[in-house]
Amino acid sequence: MYGVGVDIGATYTRVALADERGNFIDRISEATTKTGDGLSLTYQIIRMIEQILERNDIKCGDLMGIGIGSIGPLDIKRGAIINPPNLPFREVPLSEPLSKAFNVEVRVFNDCTAAVVGERIFGAGKGLDNVVYITISTGIGGGAYVDGHLLIGKDGNAVEIGHMVVDPQGLRKCGCGKRGHWEAYCSGANIPKYARILLSERDNLEKSLIYEYARGNLEDLTAKMIYDAAKRDDRLALEIIEKINTFNAIGVANVINVYDPELITLGGSVVLNNVDLVVKPIKNMVKEYAMNRIPEIKVTPLAGDVVLYGAVALSLGLAP
Ligand SMILES: [Zn+2]
Repeated sequence: MYGVGVDIGATYTRVALADERGNFIDRISEATTKTGDGLSLTYQIIRMIEQILERNDIKCGDLMGIGIGSIGPLDIKRGAIINPPNLPFREVPLSEPLSKAFNVEVRVFNDCTAAVVGERIFGAGKGLDNVVYITISTGIGGGAYVDGHLLIGKDGNAVEIGHMVVDPQGLRKCGCGKRGHWEAYCSGANIPKYARILLSERDNLEKSLIYEYARGNLEDLTAKMIYDAAKRDDRLALEIIEKINTFNAIGVANVINVYDPELITLGGSVVLNNVDLVVKPIKNMVKEYAMNRIPEIKVTPLAGDVVLYGAVALSLGLAP
């Protein structure tokens, strides 16, 4: 028997075919459809699954299920994506059309929930009952097991840690519309916006590598430029990153105080591309803010595949 895992991201949608033990047999990645209505994405996913089954000569009857880790927000009861801020659709139905197309059970979770499932079944969290996964990517999100229970919540959004308030003064407004949220300062999409506020108070910007990388136009600033400048010891970049690291440490400390995990794994592009500048400072500073005993904190060994592994685990009925 086989399982199919689907990772629906704002940029890419990926499908993996796995054997009963979760070993990947084949995979397909495509740019996520952004035209038509929500059903065009549904049909894209159906096509990708058909293609991966066909080229591996696998029939629907050989499938145990389909697992999906998706960008949100979700309505998990309906198994659909509803009004996603990063896709131009009102609703993307998943559970019903996919279970009809392949005649199997379809399980849909938000991507970070799927990721912590992947971590616990196939990654660093094997055998542990208290595990949190945190992604710092375009946004910031998390998934958590507490006492062996996967936290889901009434709408599937139990661990929206990126929207915890870390700055009560609310200097930055978050993409969700509220002020002072962790994600509004420290996610890949927001780091440049926060940096522009910090830089607006500074003179002599011309001497900074940040200014050089952005070719003198701070509107073109990216998170990568700031981290790249910091890797070359640019003083201004390091100052910005120190501010970001403080918010990251507060965010992770809140996670430790709330969920009391024995392991926190970190993933997402901002983490995976800047391990020394992101993870080490969190480990050093988190004890200043956390009351609970500090857990092991490390980068996910599943790297960019953590959501896909979780989706595969869900498809095989290995979790929760
Ligand atoms: Zn927010």
